[in-house]
Amino acid sequence: MAETTTVCIAGGGPAGAVLGLLLARSGVDVVVLEKHADFHRDFRGDTVHPATLQILDELGLVDRFHELPHQKVSTIGVVQDGKRINIADFRRLKVRYPYMAFVPQWDFLDLITAEAKRYPGFRLLMKTEALGVVRENGRVAGLRVRGPEGEREIRSTLVVAADGRHSVIRADAGFTPTLIGRSLDVIFFRISRRDTDPDEGICVRIGNGKIFGATDRRTYWQMSYETSTGGMDKVLREGLDKFRADLAELVPFLADRVHEVSSLDQLSPLEARIDRLERWHEPGLLFIGDAAHAMSPVAGFGVNLAVQDAVATANILTESLLRAQDGAPFDDSLLARIRKRRKRAVALSQGLQRATQKFGIDEALDGSGQPPAPKIFEKLGVAQWLMSRVIGLGFRPEHVRTPEKTPEGTTP
Ligand SMILES: Cc1cc2nc3c(=O)[nH]c(=O)nc-3n(C[C@H](O)[C@H](O)[C@H](O)COP(=O)(O)OP(=O)(O)OC[C@H]3O[C@@H](n4cnc5c(N)ncnc54)[C@H](O)[C@@H]3O)c2cc1C
Repeated sequence: MAETTTVCIAGGGPAGAVLGLLLARSGVDVVVLEKHADFHRDFRGDTVHPATLQILDELGLVDRFHELPHQKVSTIGVVQDGKRINIADFRRLKVRYPYMAFVPQWDFLDLITAEAKRYPGFRLLMKTEALGVVRENGRVAGLRVRGPEGEREIRSTLVVAADGRHSVIRADAGFTPTLIGRSLDVIFFRISRRDTDPDEGICVRIGNGKIFGATDRRTYWQMSYETSTGGMDKVLREGLDKFRADLAELVPFLADRVHEVSSLDQLSPLEARIDRLERWHEPGLLFIGDAAHAMSPVAGFGVNLAVQDAVATANILTESLLRAQDGAPFDDSLLARIRKRRKRAVALSQGLQRATQKFGIDEALDGSGQPPAPKIFEKLGVAQWLMSRVIGLGFRPEHVRTPEKTPEGTTP
């Protein structure tokens, strides 16, 4: 017999995990599938924005979140010609949490899923990969999955594909995203951190046609080297010494440690793309997060948007899902409301990512001059305020409107 649940979510990233928690918290039966054995991957967005902190507050999780080892970063800066220019300063926002918290994403996802497990309707299946949709009577009726015990079907009232920018469910169901922006290659590597290093939080360093980003992970720096698409080939051609020399020049406090990059094999390139679906649903199936709209790393919008999609989805669908659990038909027409609510925020965020790429990143990579964009933030106070608001809160902040059905069965 096929396993059954009310909602089957493919993907335990920020979108899938937060949606799983919200639904289970309201008494909806939910299964979250995650193909990896844990959440421990290096190259995930680690930025928890003021709007996401507000959501954690609404869920009663903000104190536990702050108990995780984290860093609070009030400003985002660009260092150009040795001078730092703040392009965003969250202290200018009238919000309860005027900072971005840096937490390894695996800690964030562990917190969310641990909280979700308090609710009896929540199941997280690790090492379980969604393979494709099951269709029945003209609607999606579940997923084919492969777990440690082999292949099987999980039947559900609703399938949510939150399986990221390379979504296999999207491909299997016949949905094709439109490419919105040119791609960027981001090459990741690590360098050890010393107590005497500057307290950078997050800082991007630009010069000589290169961009290096440094994220403080307490014992090491998670470094990124941004290049245009195909940039890794150039790095391989130019060789290790050139890479180390560029790094030492742009990030001088790491000059004594560049030898820690002992081989080009230590560099992990990742392609970032901006795309989106024109339709996010069909009967029985919904796409959210990067599966619906892949985000590039620029401005760290992706995690925040994925969480906001999850909150909007729970707000719109929970009642109908609870009724469906009691035997009523699920109202598939509600699915269109999720894209309708989120599409403007997505389009504006992606537009800003493209503009930043065009007027900041591309000009910086071109190397022929200095990108003018950072200087605008130095001269125009309102530009910095706007950027703080847009990065910190997004274009359409969502709030948790769903009730909690406590594990004991009462609704406080
Ligand atoms: C190089 C790079 C750096 C980035 N840095 C940042 C940043 O600093 N800050 C920021 O906010 N955003 C950043 N982003 C964007 C951000 O990572 C995404 O927008 C965000 O993670 C989207 O969340 P999600 O839950 O939709 O998808 P994902 O985070 O991609 O999560 C999808 C999950 O589904 C799982 N999965 C995939 N396929 C299957 C399957 N078939 N079955 C089961 N599970 C599956 C994956 O293992 C993963 O856990 C970055 C993106 C890139 C490419």
